[in-house]
Amino acid sequence: MINETQLLEEFTWRDTAACLKHPATLFFGFDDLEPPGERRNREDRAKLICSGCLVKEECLDYALAANESYGIWGGLTEVELKAYKRALKNRSALSI
Ligand code: SF4
Repeated sequence: MINETQLLEEFTWRDTAACLKHPATLFFGFDDLEPPGERRNREDRAKLICSGCLVKEECLDYALAANESYGIWGGLTEVELKAYKRALKNRSALSI
């Protein structure tokens, strides 16, 4: 995982992000009123784009370091990102 200083210095990864060619609403939705079926469909389309992204790992590292909790990051939905964070936390607790 990268720290805050590295976050700012290494922010150039966004220049090659596959999502730059797509509307941000595909990754963040319009609002909280999005019907669940539409949301799943939108998230699946966004994740498909993420699957071919060259900076997926950097994106996920950024989301973890910045504690992002909204939108698709590193190919993970909000729910998946929360679960991933929990798994990392549990894993680090076990290794103490
Ligand atoms: S992995 Fe991150 S940078 Fe790449 S397309 Fe997905 S949201 Fe964008």
